[in-house]
Amino acid sequence: MEFELSDRVQTVPPSGIRRFFEIAEERDDVISLGVGEPDFATPWAARDAAITSLEKGKTSYTANRGKRELREAIADYVADRFDLGYDPDEEIIVTAGASEAVDLAFRAFVNPGDTVAIAQPSYISYEPGVIFAGGEVLPVPTREEDEFRLTVEGLEEAGADEADVLVLCYPNNPTGAIMPAEDLEPIAEFAREHDLMVLSDEIYAELTYEGEHTSIATFEGMRERTIVFNGFSKAHAMTGLRLGYALGPAEAIGAMNKIHQYTMLSAPTTAQYAALEALDSCENDVREMVSQYDRRRQFVLSRFREIGMDVFEAKGAFYCFPEVPEGFTAEEFAEDVLREQGVAVVPGDVFGDVGEGHLRVSYATGLEDLREALARLEAFVEDHA
Ligand code: PMP
Repeated sequence: MEFELSDRVQTVPPSGIRRFFEIAEERDDVISLGVGEPDFATPWAARDAAITSLEKGKTSYTANRGKRELREAIADYVADRFDLGYDPDEEIIVTAGASEAVDLAFRAFVNPGDTVAIAQPSYISYEPGVIFAGGEVLPVPTREEDEFRLTVEGLEEAGADEADVLVLCYPNNPTGAIMPAEDLEPIAEFAREHDLMVLSDEIYAELTYEGEHTSIATFEGMRERTIVFNGFSKAHAMTGLRLGYALGPAEAIGAMNKIHQYTMLSAPTTAQYAALEALDSCENDVREMVSQYDRRRQFVLSRFREIGMDVFEAKGAFYCFPEVPEGFTAEEFAEDVLREQGVAVVPGDVFGDVGEGHLRVSYATGLEDLREALARLEAFVEDHA
């Protein structure tokens, strides 16, 4: 018998990043600047707390919304770091990665036919998530001239005033763009004026290298229409532990929990112990990783400029987004540089059409490898000049 696949599954193309990993895996001399995860090990204290929890046999489910102690720690952390006030009992849900939280939100708030505006270039999971939920995607292009920040003009041009939901991700994957408070303010006003719900993925908030991260939920009238996503994968280098969370008004988080309690039950217990310790005692580890990312960022940006590739000043996350030299599409460049020089980068069009002509280059890799990778990129550009 042949499986009959659902239309929703068939509509979503396979991940564009995967293909490059497959080519990269064929050889052993590849330096990958393609990955979206920290190269650092999880801070020891967090790992130790996870081990201790296992030794003590703490391997049962937790409360659906996550351990209360962890929700309290998250409430304190987001209040302290980002000026966000959420009640641990009703307004926070702990999930299996921010990924689960994003998926829950699409399923809880998107009706078939609803329009979800997504600022692009964007993280690759939003569009499939909207389609799985039965919604329609409205891409809202951002422009390099605006430092890839979302603008009201961009929203208007795309017709986002008619949308039901707006998805934002700052600091941004894949561009490394940030949105300072003065640029977020008009976006908040637009959301209020057109009655948009905002899903704000702030998983890279700690990885902000200029100024302080501002959450759109802190603007007047925004808390009641915004869900904020965050997690432990990036700042705490805990990708494989799969732990994230969502913050929002009680009714909204309750709706997400309704799906979560039937589909996930609770986020991984061992990871919750690690996360509790991460918030409790790993602030210095985070500071140290952030300062190393920043050094790498400055190095990579300056090397691209030396090589003669245009690159905008990425100020957050761990990506930069240089322009592909003339004569190549993004995909051709990425494929050729991988085959000829053994450097893996991701073509920008994977993150939406507006990303064409760019590459996503991750600097979540040690400085030594970054040095070698940039030397190989330079050789490639010279060979093809
Ligand atoms: N949002 C963005 C913007 C990301 O880049 C990622 C990870 N690549 C995620 C969410 C998913 O994170 P998690 O590991 O917490 O599911």
